[in-house]
Amino acid sequence: MIDLDTLKQKLAQPCKIVITTHHKPDGDAMGSSLGLFNYLIQKGHYVKVITPTDYPYFLQWLPNNPEVIIFTDKVEESKKLVAEAELIFCLDFNALSRINELGEEVKKSSALKIMIDHHLEPEGFDDFRHWNINACATAQLIYDFIVNYLNDGELINKDVATCLYTGIMTDSGSFRFPNVTSDLHRIVAGLIDAGAENWKIHQQVYDNATEGRLKFLGYCLSNKLEVLREYNTAIISVSKADIKKFDIQTGETEGVVNYALSINGIKLAAFIVERSDRVKLSLRSVGTFPANEICKKYFEGGGHRNAAGGQSSENFDKVVQKFKSILPEYKELLLQ
Ligand code: 5GP
Ligand code: MN
Repeated sequence: MIDLDTLKQKLAQPCKIVITTHHKPDGDAMGSSLGLFNYLIQKGHYVKVITPTDYPYFLQWLPNNPEVIIFTDKVEESKKLVAEAELIFCLDFNALSRINELGEEVKKSSALKIMIDHHLEPEGFDDFRHWNINACATAQLIYDFIVNYLNDGELINKDVATCLYTGIMTDSGSFRFPNVTSDLHRIVAGLIDAGAENWKIHQQVYDNATEGRLKFLGYCLSNKLEVLREYNTAIISVSKADIKKFDIQTGETEGVVNYALSINGIKLAAFIVERSDRVKLSLRSVGTFPANEICKKYFEGGGHRNAAGGQSSENFDKVVQKFKSILPEYKELLLQ
C-alpha cells in the first residue's frame, strides 16, 4: 500500500494512466471513468479508459466517450497500454474477476493500482484505495477524491460534472435509495453549479429507449412475471430466444427488475436472463433483505444488500428452479 502523499507526488508530473471499470459497465462505471478521465487530462496526463466489454448506447453520449477503448475490440492495443501504464485506476469494482481477461493484464502490470469503489469485501489487488461502502456511487467517491484528496475542486468543469452526475443519478435510482443523504444532495448541487444539465442527463439516459426495448418490457410484464406471494418474491425470467425476438442490446434489460420490485408487498425481485455463454441474475430487495448473500452463496456473484448480481453456467430452466428452491431458506426474512 502507498499513502496519499506518495500518490500525490506521482500525480504531480504527467503520467501514463489507464482507467478501467467492470464488465458490462453501467452508468456509475462509465460516469466515474469518464469523470476521472476528464479531470486527469486537464492535469496533462496521458490517459486512456479501457472497458472490458461494450456498454449501452444510452451512455455513449458522455463527454469524451469516443476516447474509450473496448478491450474485446482492441485486445493488443489494450494489453500494451496496461503493460506500459504507470498508474491504473480501477473504478466501481474490487475483484479482478469483474474485468474478465483484462484482470490478468492488470495483475501482471507493474503500475500502481488505485481502487476507488463502494462494493463490499475488496479482494486486495490494489496499492491505494478510496473505498467506502456507504457511498451511493463510485462517482461520489471520485468527486471526493478530486475535491478533498487532491484539492482540485476548481477542475470540476462541465464535462467532469456531467459524468459524475450521471454516475450518481444512475446508482442512486435517481436519488431515491436509502444511502442518498443531504451531503450527497450538496455534492449534486455543486455538480449542477459546475454545469451538469440535470434534466438533459436524465433524458439522455432514461428517455432514450428503442421501440424494441419498450415492447420487450411489455412482454416481460404480461408473459414472464411470476409472483410468489408465499415468499414475497417476484421473478421475471427471459430466454435467449426472447432476447433475440426483440433484438435486445447491451444494457436494454437494465431496470426491468425494478418493475417486479414495485409490486406491493414484494421484498425480493429477480431478473433471470439467458445470455449466450451463461445465465445472469439481477436481484433487488427492500430493507434489510440481503440479496447479495444469495448471489454470493449460490450464483458466483455479489453486490450490495439491495442490489446484487450473479451468474451460472447451468441451463436456464435449472437456474430458475435453483433460485426458487433457495427461497424456503429465506422465508422468515421474506415474510417479516
Ligand atoms: P446488476 O443487477 O445491475 O447487474 O448488478 C447489481 C449490483 O450487483 C451491482 O452493484 C454490481 O456491481 C453487482 N453485481 C452484478 N453482477 C455481479 C457479479 O457477477 N459479481 C459480483 N461480485 N457483483 C455483481
Ligand atoms: Mn457503482
